[in-house]
Amino acid sequence: MSLRQTDPEIADAIGRELERQQTGLELIASENFTSPAVLQAMGTPLTNKYAEGYPGKRYYGGCEFIDQVEQLAIDRARALFGSEHANVQPHSGSGANMAVYFGLLDPGDRILGLELSDGGHLTHGSPVNFSGRFFEFLRYGLDPETQRIDYDRVREIAKRERPRMIQCGYSAYPREIDFEAFGSIAREVDAILFADIAHIAGLIAAEVHPTPVGHASVVATTTHKTLRGPRGGLVLCDSEHAEAIDKAVFPHTQGGPLEHVIAAKAVALHEASQPEFRGYAEQIVSNARALAESVAARGFRLVSGGTDNHLFVIDFGESGMSGLKAQRRLDRAGITTSKSTVPGETRSPWVTSGLRVGTPAVTTRGMKQDEMRRIGDWIADVLESPEDEEMQQQIRVQVEELCRGFPLPYADLG
Ligand SMILES: *Cc1c(COP(=O)(O)O)cnc(C)c1O
Repeated sequence: MSLRQTDPEIADAIGRELERQQTGLELIASENFTSPAVLQAMGTPLTNKYAEGYPGKRYYGGCEFIDQVEQLAIDRARALFGSEHANVQPHSGSGANMAVYFGLLDPGDRILGLELSDGGHLTHGSPVNFSGRFFEFLRYGLDPETQRIDYDRVREIAKRERPRMIQCGYSAYPREIDFEAFGSIAREVDAILFADIAHIAGLIAAEVHPTPVGHASVVATTTHKTLRGPRGGLVLCDSEHAEAIDKAVFPHTQGGPLEHVIAAKAVALHEASQPEFRGYAEQIVSNARALAESVAARGFRLVSGGTDNHLFVIDFGESGMSGLKAQRRLDRAGITTSKSTVPGETRSPWVTSGLRVGTPAVTTRGMKQDEMRRIGDWIADVLESPEDEEMQQQIRVQVEELCRGFPLPYADLG
């Protein structure tokens, strides 16, 4: 019996979501399209198995094949990133970060991280997140002129405040991160350096962005953003911290691992180690640059003036446009983006003054610079005339036509 026969309501909603993905332009910087192989690994009977513990040391019987799957994922993660240890069990990026904090710190410890409105993540000390409730966060900001990290200033604050941990790696920072500089600051003040590479893991795997491995004691990531795997998390660390991290994931913060997702992580890690993946990551960055340039050429201001990675942030400043409004108007044209706070934010986190735009997903579809220039013009058209619904509808039609030329590899799922 197919899902369509047993549960037509859910099958219908899934079908519509697939259609939405096929016919729209996905520019949310944290999203991507997995390969059919990754999807296939997730939809397997591995989901039936309880496997609390780790390969070779499980609390349940019958784990011999699960052990093979998880060990392959671990070995591939270590080889891909060159780290001494890997834990592939975190259910999400947030869960991976939770394991890092609880594994290496005590509640109440002080962590030096980026000002949240400058591009940080909820799990970097937001008061509405566990991180902000259990730990004390101190802040460094971006340089007000360049809107880039000012490493001298980070060093100054670290020396004065002596935090137990320094955190780098962000959700909306368009520039390269100097992990070596962070490493030397952390050593000077004897702090643990934690790199959260949730967004840029794929670029790092492909050596299109410098790696934190060797500079940071612990690295956490999602597996579903530029890394293009299943939704999930991963922690990499040196041998010294391996036991603390493993215990923090299980039993401290999680129960049974999602072995079907771990199998899919293994598939994605293998894909990311192939030569084609490097070409993919290089194209993500070229596409981001082309798209950013075409939007900037129409007079929009970009945070830090541009991008070195897979994303950029348009800053509407005090103008009538907000991030929320821009996101909603672009939605009407079939262009999906996400609002974003900007350095020196004056609006609420729900409204915001910025729009984050990323190229990992459209690059997976095979789009290149020519397509980026067309998309950049459509974005500018919508933002310049936000109340012109007729134009938004016309762009929507052109978007669908463009997307038909770059189909997702999911033909068998319809
Ligand atoms: C996306 C993200 C996370 C969290 O990932 P989830 O899987 O959504 O929990 C953590 N850190 C950073 C920097 C991120 O961008």
